[in-house]
Amino acid sequence: MNGTMKMSVLVDVKKAEIHEGRIPEIKSNEVLVQNKTCNICTADYQQWLGLRPQQHFNMAFGHENAGIVVEVGSEVKNIKVGEHVAFGVMGCGECEDCRKSFNANFCNYRTSSYALKDAEGYYGPKGASEYKVSVPRVLFKMREDLPSQEAGFLEPLATVVEGIQRLRVSPGEKVLVIGAGTMGILNAQVARLFGADVIISDPMEKKLKTATELGFKHIINPTGNDFEEKISEFTDGKGLDAIVIAVGVTSAYKQAFDVAPKGCRFLIFAASFPAPTWELDPNKVHYKLWEIIGTYGASSKSYQMAADFLNSGQINTKPLIDAVYDIEQIQEAFTAAAKPGSYRVALKITK
Ligand SMILES: [Zn+2]
Ligand SMILES: [Zn+2]
Repeated sequence: MNGTMKMSVLVDVKKAEIHEGRIPEIKSNEVLVQNKTCNICTADYQQWLGLRPQQHFNMAFGHENAGIVVEVGSEVKNIKVGEHVAFGVMGCGECEDCRKSFNANFCNYRTSSYALKDAEGYYGPKGASEYKVSVPRVLFKMREDLPSQEAGFLEPLATVVEGIQRLRVSPGEKVLVIGAGTMGILNAQVARLFGADVIISDPMEKKLKTATELGFKHIINPTGNDFEEKISEFTDGKGLDAIVIAVGVTSAYKQAFDVAPKGCRFLIFAASFPAPTWELDPNKVHYKLWEIIGTYGASSKSYQMAADFLNSGQINTKPLIDAVYDIEQIQEAFTAAAKPGSYRVALKITK
């Protein structure tokens, strides 16, 4: 396909622009996708805010995108023109770490597109550009009538599915999710899908309302003085089996360690810059048999599960989309996305 396309680019702090780029050409083993929507991730708006000096300008950002296949190379077998797809972050599939089913971050050959400059001088994965060239390995088929901004949740949801599996959540367990932002709500929904009885804690009324809308009954505002009392009430005095820390603030860690009983497992889901302070007494981990579990990224299995959960409607992302902006309103979109307490803001790339 020849011609030019619109590219969404972060050019400087608090400055996002639409640039004109060339539509990429595909090789025989590649696929061209026309992006419909790209959701603005924390990594994107934090760069816009100037909080991620490790990410360079000009950044053709966007990795929470979904679209329609418009061209396939002659060697491509499993994907056809017209199919709806979302993108995963995958490794090479050939190195030892990929074969052990680790996520892309452990691949011996992968360099993040955030760190690679292309021939035109742009960094970034280009998920918020009109067209994106890709290999079939990273594409996941999405239901045709699923709105593209919901299909765009594939990547964040896959990281949550990975985390909840690493936490070994099993039916009947009492799981506390601290933080009801986008990732907290996804963690709560996936933990519930795995059979857990979920408790959600967040100081913002807007977020507690979302949790209620999604059918969660055990909800705590931690600014009250009854945090531990509520935990006791919701667990019938038995205490928690696991805690997901889905917000990168120091107080969340303190709260988690204060309320955790013996045998508790912790999932450290959130990252934040600068990093939160972590005051953990190793003797407590030792005597209380605590398990501290990290998670980041997702394996291909978790990606496929996340695609299935979105396609089946078992995970509901509708309440997690605050607004949809046209690509031309990119500055307004970033302003809205960076507002404290906001859920995802979607950029409509093509009609
Ligand atoms: Zn993301
Ligand atoms: Zn690899």
